[in-house]
Amino acid sequence: MNPEILDWTEGTEGIALQQCGDCRHAWYFRRDFCPACGSRTLIRKQASGLGTVHAVTLVARAPSEALRPYAPYAIALVDADEGFRLMAHVVPEARIGDRVRATFHAFGPATVPLFVLEG
Ligand SMILES: [Zn+2]
Repeated sequence: MNPEILDWTEGTEGIALQQCGDCRHAWYFRRDFCPACGSRTLIRKQASGLGTVHAVTLVARAPSEALRPYAPYAIALVDADEGFRLMAHVVPEARIGDRVRATFHAFGPATVPLFVLEG
């Protein structure tokens, strides 16, 4: 792990990505090899947190009792500027095509990304 890279899945407020050192393909979930070309030459990078809303939906029924106080809340698929797509919380006024920026908020026991409108 690179201590200079912030990653909310490791308790720091940032979004990390992996990129292939050979074909430059970028993705979000950590893997041991490039899903595009199979290379094991991988680079871990800090994402800018900027992206564009690809899809958005409203969660009316929380998946657990602990999360029920948060419902309803909006979830988006965001196309990050670095070329990968991730699912994350988004402000409910976000629409497809909106430019968004990652912030972080408490959600049950975790701190998770919350995309807000950019600009
Ligand atoms: Zn590759």
